[in-house]
Amino acid sequence: MRVAVIGAGLAGLVAARSLHGDHDVVVLDKGPSVGGRLATRRIGEARLDHGAQFFTVRGAALQAQVDDWLERGIARVWCHGFAGRADGYPRYCGSDGMNSLAKDLASGLDHRTNQMVFMVRRTEDGWDVVIDDGSRIAADAVILTCPVPQSWALLAQAELAIPEELFRRAYHRTIGLLTVLDRPSAVPSPGGVQFDADDASNAFGFIADNQAKGVSPVPAVTFHATQPWSTEHWDDDVALLRTLLLERARPWIGEACVLDAQVKKWRFAGPVDPWVDACWVEAEHQVVLAGDLFAGPKFEGAFNSGLAAAAAVVGFS
Ligand SMILES: Cc1cc2nc3c(=O)[nH]c(=O)nc-3n(C[C@H](O)[C@H](O)[C@H](O)COP(=O)(O)OP(=O)(O)OC[C@H]3O[C@@H](n4cnc5c(N)ncnc54)[C@H](O)[C@@H]3O)c2cc1C
Repeated sequence: MRVAVIGAGLAGLVAARSLHGDHDVVVLDKGPSVGGRLATRRIGEARLDHGAQFFTVRGAALQAQVDDWLERGIARVWCHGFAGRADGYPRYCGSDGMNSLAKDLASGLDHRTNQMVFMVRRTEDGWDVVIDDGSRIAADAVILTCPVPQSWALLAQAELAIPEELFRRAYHRTIGLLTVLDRPSAVPSPGGVQFDADDASNAFGFIADNQAKGVSPVPAVTFHATQPWSTEHWDDDVALLRTLLLERARPWIGEACVLDAQVKKWRFAGPVDPWVDACWVEAEHQVVLAGDLFAGPKFEGAFNSGLAAAAAVVGFS
């Protein structure tokens, strides 16, 4: 079966890996690199995770993947909880940043970056995936792993009965600040501070010292604003956001001078209210919606949703 996977984030890559070998799979992503929200950015010598910062494991499927990553040195344990909140459960990260996990999953797959899918439309014998350069990829089955409002827009002309309560699902927004410093930060060991993400009195929901985490060779700190703060300031000018966030970041920057500071906005940071099933399947036309809206939010939700999407496609054949 020819399977087109739209989105090379965690869900899409896991789905593609599961189907690889038995099916003819291509993964398409609009970004310059695989990973989606598993994003690691270089600024000069610094390396910063600027999407997901770490992940935890509850289920056997992800544990098996993590055991393999640990053995090969692709992932490692960052800590067992953050400043003042250690609870003994491992928090894992990518050894060279979270994006290295995505790169590992993508290795050996036919994955194509800088491929913005413009439309997914039905043909007499399957699907046409239309790229924004006008090229097309024919497929028998399609897995869409973009945030669901985006997947729905791609399928707008496919006349599928996608439930309205699914495609109208809301996502949190997150504004991030990436800083490069001239000396170590004042973020306490183990280099992460976690606050209540809904607490409107805090500007930040999470602060990560990428050097203490072992990702950056030089001091570099990622600040993620809380959901209320991000929503309130979403339309602010980027220069103003930079100033406001730097002011709030000062206690964690300590005595260091800021060598560089960049603002990053995540419009679809995570689902407000996850969908009940691990993916949405339309068996008659062989299309699946997957991603972290399904199967529980965050890293493990996206991972499990990718597996469920692959299982659904196996069921089509
Ligand atoms: C700021 C932030 C912090 C987070 N922190 C954590 C954390 O600490 N722990 C945790 O477990 N989780 C965290 N998460 C959540 C975690 O990153 C996500 O749950 C997970 O990475 C989602 O994977 P996904 O495959 O579902 O979606 P994505 O990673 O969003 O993948 C979807 C892909 O689709 C692509 N795409 C979209 N539209 C198109 C198109 N038209 N054509 C082609 N490609 C397209 C995108 O480029 C993207 O690569 C965080 C997320 C953010 C944003």
